Amino acid sequence: QSFRETLEIIPISTTDLIESHRICVCVRKRPLNKQELNRKEIDVVSVPGNGSLLVHEPKQKVDLTKYLDNQVFHFDYSFDETTTNDLVYKFTAKPLVQSIFEGCMATCFAYGQTGSGKTHTMGGDFTGKQQNSAKGIYALAARDVFTYLNHRRYNSLDLSAYVSFFEIYNGKVYDLLNKKAKLRVLEDDRQQVQVVGLEEVYVTTAEEVIRMIQAGSACRTSGQTSANANSSRSHAVLQIVLRRNDRATTLHGKFSLVDLAGNERGTDVSSNDRSTLVETAEINRSLLALKECIRSLGKNSDHIPFRMSTLTKVLRDSFIGEKSRTCMIAMVSPGMASCEYTMNTLRYADRVKELNGNSKVSGVAKAQEPINSSSDEESVVDTNVYD
Ligand code: ADP
Ligand code: MG
Repeated sequence: QSFRETLEIIPISTTDLIESHRICVCVRKRPLNKQELNRKEIDVVSVPGNGSLLVHEPKQKVDLTKYLDNQVFHFDYSFDETTTNDLVYKFTAKPLVQSIFEGCMATCFAYGQTGSGKTHTMGGDFTGKQQNSAKGIYALAARDVFTYLNHRRYNSLDLSAYVSFFEIYNGKVYDLLNKKAKLRVLEDDRQQVQVVGLEEVYVTTAEEVIRMIQAGSACRTSGQTSANANSSRSHAVLQIVLRRNDRATTLHGKFSLVDLAGNERGTDVSSNDRSTLVETAEINRSLLALKECIRSLGKNSDHIPFRMSTLTKVLRDSFIGEKSRTCMIAMVSPGMASCEYTMNTLRYADRVKELNGNSKVSGVAKAQEPINSSSDEESVVDTNVYD
């Protein structure tokens, strides 16, 4: 299937389109995996439709058959375990890709515990284990960037695309496109933040972008004894930057795609290992800062606490002004054993979107009233969400 065939410029007024995605918060549930199935873990998460999601919290850890009251959450979208990356992309990152052509600073975050599906969704695992992960949001966004670049609506803007890819670990920035060079983050007196010396590679095809991510991902894990464990403690940031082809190559728009560090360490205080404690503190700080920054954006507040962490510092542009667009995809594991982490993830996502009430959400009606799953009314299931 050629890119042309999948071309879809959303044919409404751009202000409407962009406005509606100012802050979008969604949740994605992955299927139970083999180990969970082998352990006969119970699936405690259900997605009845209309953006809502239910967690059947266990009453007692010892008795796996007893459920506490269902906890109900409402998001702009809730994706169940049958949802494909394609569909998640269409409702989350795709409008943001178009927004950067309209001059926006867009950010898409994958949030959740390790193993919940962040990298699967982003498509950033090119270590060889998951061959099909190339069709994640990274690849789909890259594809559309070049589709839009060549579209008559935008080609008169005379833009070029550039890619950066870096990792933030323990508050330090490492360039994944330049042998993991450690980079400094500087803020000038106009509060402009710069990552000094960050590679920004000119790209002309989606395949080139994928190759950069592949190389960067390999660089990310090399030299580490436990690659997965380590990468789950860092944030990976892919940036697609649009610049005008004038002499100054002026910035036109920017899309940051962030595969966040696993949030489970926020609750895991059992370790006495000092380096783990430092890591934990840093991850906590950055995830807290992120929440506060998105909330400030939602409140149209003048004060954005971006200095709270390196993550929010380097993403400062994404939290300020009229042209900031944010989408958070919170990933949850469905198994009973992950219930506590799942609840933490959902509470976090809930706080992020709390102030979203006055902005238009993404066109999905929220459930009128809490859905009580003890009544077996299947009619509340709204399959229209994905049409
Ligand atoms: P994370 O990056 O959050 O630590 P991963 O994306 O690496 O988690 O996912 C952990 C495992 O679960 C991987 O093997 C991945 O392929 C699988 N997985 C995650 N989400 C899904 C999904 N929606 N459908 C099928 N498999 C998934
Ligand atoms: Mg991962």
